[in-house]
Amino acid sequence: MTFNKKRIYLSSPHMSGHEQKYIAEAFEQNWIAPLGPNVDNLEKTIADYCGVRHVAALSSGTAAIHLALILMGVKPGDEVFASSFTFSATVNPIVYQGANPVFIDSEKETWNMDPELLENALADRKRKGVIDRVKAIIVVHLYGMPAKMNEILDVANKYNIPVIEDAAEALGSKYKGKLLGSFGNVAILSFNGNKIITTSGGGALLSNDEEFIKKSRFLATQARDNAPHYQHSSIGYNYRMSNVLAGIGRGQMAVIDERVKKRREIFKIYCENFMDVEGISFLSEPDEKYFSNRWLTTILIDSLKTGITREDIQKELEKENIETRPLWKPMHLQPVFEKYSAFVNGVSESLFDVGLCLPSGSNMSNEDLFFVIKTIKSVLK
Ligand SMILES: *Cc1c(COP(=O)(O)O)cnc(C)c1O
Repeated sequence: MTFNKKRIYLSSPHMSGHEQKYIAEAFEQNWIAPLGPNVDNLEKTIADYCGVRHVAALSSGTAAIHLALILMGVKPGDEVFASSFTFSATVNPIVYQGANPVFIDSEKETWNMDPELLENALADRKRKGVIDRVKAIIVVHLYGMPAKMNEILDVANKYNIPVIEDAAEALGSKYKGKLLGSFGNVAILSFNGNKIITTSGGGALLSNDEEFIKKSRFLATQARDNAPHYQHSSIGYNYRMSNVLAGIGRGQMAVIDERVKKRREIFKIYCENFMDVEGISFLSEPDEKYFSNRWLTTILIDSLKTGITREDIQKELEKENIETRPLWKPMHLQPVFEKYSAFVNGVSESLFDVGLCLPSGSNMSNEDLFFVIKTIKSVLK
């Protein structure tokens, strides 16, 4: 029966084989601490890869967003504009700061923040005389697809508001030939277990601003002043990455391009196999400016045309021990964020209603991939 079938995951950790060498080094040198050679090396590797000058390796992507907001001076009563179509980790740190998220809906081409809605939202705050309260804009590159950065940066610059790129799902994706994470004033990455590469848990803050990254390291190590004793003049956090985990990160960064290539191949195979099915559609790269790492392949199911729903597919796949997940439920529809403002056009809600993430891990065998495809086709009959 199906229960003894091995589970096919959405995205599971995929080790390169180089990780244990760096972990062993950490043990040999006794750098079992939230600093050390693996951390330094990983930071440099990420900076070189993404084309930014400075990187701080941290305990999570969420911690990276939190530090970015603190350093941008986000305080109680301030506003931070953020993509509504995302994982809650993007916006939770806004609330940690006592500030108010303002949710911006998506455009249809990339599913990311709609630059026109962003402009409307900022114009609204300006008209009301409260534009000074808007401290930052967090733009997410969902499922690895680059947001419309040209347009978004134009609007942000017009109102002089700093941009945080949430590239947690988008390491290895490019916009106009440049790696994501290099467009915002700062950017964040995540190395959680299900991301394109992992340190089991971890994240990073990226910026060309050296002072910003220096300050983030200071805050991430309990804000200890430069004094012979333990002295503190600000509130600190324990957000640095362990040197052992950074060893995993080094082994993973060695294969990032291979991982992107494999995820893009998986996406292509799904597309080819459902190309002729009316009512099943994929998110395509709008033009040659956009290069997605295809972290997760997502499908939209038009139930009028296919006669089946997202839930029908999900149920059938689950019976075969195949993991799927509905698209992220937009933040403006989440009970916990109900009371905050939102600028909405219906796009993310309608995507959420009919969208499904399919198994996309770079360690998935072709046999597993074609089994997923076959199972979906069996529901479509
Ligand atoms: C995973 C993720 C994060 C948070 O990263 P963690 O390392 O899990 O804290 C933030 N934003 C998005 C869009 C994510 O997918």
